[in-house]
Amino acid sequence: MIELVNSDRCIGCDICVKVCPRDVFDSGDDGLAVIARKSDCQTCFLCELYCPVDALYVSPHAEQDDEVDSEQLIAQNLLGSYTRNMGWSRGKMGGTDKDPTRQLRILNRVGREEQPTPQRQLL
Ligand code: SF4
Ligand code: SF4
Repeated sequence: MIELVNSDRCIGCDICVKVCPRDVFDSGDDGLAVIARKSDCQTCFLCELYCPVDALYVSPHAEQDDEVDSEQLIAQNLLGSYTRNMGWSRGKMGGTDKDPTRQLRILNRVGREEQPTPQRQLL
């Protein structure tokens, strides 16, 4: 279940708001993501996978709330660990050309300076 948005890392890109299939997140008044409907989370990890700055933590425990501490998660290198375990890295664009969430990342130009353009990736 989604447990944490690290507000120090969140850049307010709204990708998690858009990719979550259960509409768990809202964009807060400060533009940062907030967990608005936690009990609707289906523990699919999509938000953690697509967050460009590793600001989210989804616990593998789908049926229970876990007590998590942001600093502890950072110290244990757990923020973004699902993404890394899936073989994604922040230096390359995730997904395929037919993946709409990949297109969202391109449109939002999130982390563009760190990522190759789609054209270059296809070469
Ligand atoms: S794990 Fe899935 S359902 Fe839960 S908040 Fe993230 S994207 Fe939404
Ligand atoms: S995807 Fe990450 S950086 Fe973007 S709004 Fe959500 S938590 Fe913040």
